[in-house]
Amino acid sequence: MDPYDAIVIGAGHNGLISGCYLARAGLKVVVLERTDRIGGACVTEELWPGVRMSTASYATSLLLPEVIHELGLDIDIRLKDPDFFHPYDDGGGLLFWDDPTKTHDAIAHLSKKDAEAYPRFHELFDEAARRLTPLLHYPATRKQARRAFRQSEIEGLFDKTVTGSIAEVAEEYFEHELMRGIHASQGLIGTGAGPRTPGTAYVYLHHAFGMATGRLGQWGFVRGGQGAITGALADVLRASGGEIRTEVEVERLKLDVRRRASGVVLDSGEEIDAGTVLSGVDPKRTLTFVPEDSVPPEFVVDIDIYPSEGMVVKVNCALSGLPKFRGIGSEGVAGPEHMGTISVAPSIDYLEASAREAVAGKVPAEMFCEAWIQTASEPELAPEGKHTLSVFAQYAPYTLAEGSWDERRDEIGDTVIANLERYAPGLTDLVEERVVFGPPDLEARFGLTGGNIFHGEILPDWIFEGRPASPWHRYRLPIAGFYLCGSGAHPGGGVCGAPGRNAARAVLVDLAARGVERAVEPGATTAVRT
Ligand SMILES: Cc1cc2nc3c(=O)[nH]c(=O)nc-3n(C[C@H](O)[C@H](O)[C@H](O)COP(=O)(O)OP(=O)(O)OC[C@H]3O[C@@H](n4cnc5c(N)ncnc54)[C@H](O)[C@@H]3O)c2cc1C
Repeated sequence: MDPYDAIVIGAGHNGLISGCYLARAGLKVVVLERTDRIGGACVTEELWPGVRMSTASYATSLLLPEVIHELGLDIDIRLKDPDFFHPYDDGGGLLFWDDPTKTHDAIAHLSKKDAEAYPRFHELFDEAARRLTPLLHYPATRKQARRAFRQSEIEGLFDKTVTGSIAEVAEEYFEHELMRGIHASQGLIGTGAGPRTPGTAYVYLHHAFGMATGRLGQWGFVRGGQGAITGALADVLRASGGEIRTEVEVERLKLDVRRRASGVVLDSGEEIDAGTVLSGVDPKRTLTFVPEDSVPPEFVVDIDIYPSEGMVVKVNCALSGLPKFRGIGSEGVAGPEHMGTISVAPSIDYLEASAREAVAGKVPAEMFCEAWIQTASEPELAPEGKHTLSVFAQYAPYTLAEGSWDERRDEIGDTVIANLERYAPGLTDLVEERVVFGPPDLEARFGLTGGNIFHGEILPDWIFEGRPASPWHRYRLPIAGFYLCGSGAHPGGGVCGAPGRNAARAVLVDLAARGVERAVEPGATTAVRT
């Protein structure tokens, strides 16, 4: 008899979530992780002595409330308030508060019309998000999505929020270029596309369906950093009888005589047997686990063209003190400008120009940046008086037209910091330690092929049944007993957990169909027994 019922490849949050549901259903589960860390791109690490940071992902919204409640995760997600600080060129900046009146008044200084339009813009994406939410829980198709978006009072809801460009929507609602830039930037997170590319509206919507803070579309920060989420998942998994093995790299899938998945082979040569194998690794890397002739050629082609090169550079710093932004706050004192996301996205043209340069392999001098100083609200994450600064910046191409990342990493890190220094003079002098993760570094450190933060683009061709390839969008890969449970499966990337939860359900449904007992579907009230 196999020692395990199920093997999960990769201890990212999705792999852990699949593992938790399967272990809770009574399966003997082992999660195999290549690195010495648990959590994939959802981790808190001590990057320098006494300095703890969310190395990759840093903000939370998408994590399904179902996952939090069903697994009883003990995590503290704090709503961002202010949500954003957008510094102005001439000092001060625009703060987006939780209080709608304060936000209205702040925007009205730029444009009265935009202050009125702001709630309507959010209602557009709230309405789309409410319609999308039920589709997150099963492998929905585009046709089903289009149907779910019908009969809205908002004309053209599907086209506006799924197939359209974010620039079109931002320009329809807002007149001030900063308001347009700010809103367009949220349709660009993690993508290589610019704001005028069709489908970037969906990237916005993908960031607007979260309920983890208890408020639709609102984002928050997890106390202790993102690793608190995956730490809690690992605790649940172990308490449910599951095992996690780190520093074990899966090299290939084992197939039995019927060409069903029957286990994995590690790079050490060790073999681990189980009748069910789930991959929490991105689709391109997942395909490397199987001999090409064991899957249909059209699947190989689809995964080959699945876009996986990323454009994100993450710069993590330890600071000797708090940066002071021009025209706001006092030296060394934490103010509202430090508490939420500090964003640089001054206009749509700025963002479009930046994206276009990067597509040509250049690193633009002017980048879209989102910065976060977690120690402003959680000083315990750094030694007294010191601070952390996490900067997420675009667009930094995986393949540079000139030079290599090894040659240019520091220079690109300087460019990112210079984009913030424009608004916070003296920032560079505060940087005591710094680590720059360009797309090739994200690939090497986190196993993200191409450095793509979402395991592949979330543009319209690659969502719904396009993720990762039709008709293998139902978590079941073209080898029986082999499943995809990571962000390359519907509904895609971000710390969301739906791929992991839905894939576990697919496994349990299949086991129940084969007469395997003790299967309980995630979220189901009754056990599925055969
Ligand atoms: C810089 C950055 C910033 C981000 N910011 C945010 C954010 O603020 N909010 C948000 O919601 N999302 C954010 N994201 C996206 C989000 O973090 C990811 O989409 C998500 O964490 C992916 O989770 P996953 O479980 O699907 O896969 P991963 O987290 O990628 O997990 C896969 C795991 O598999 C392991 N693995 C790979 N190959 C093997 C092998 N052969 N054998 C065994 N193990 C293997 C990897 O080491 C990894 O641990 C960000 C991502 C990055 C990189």
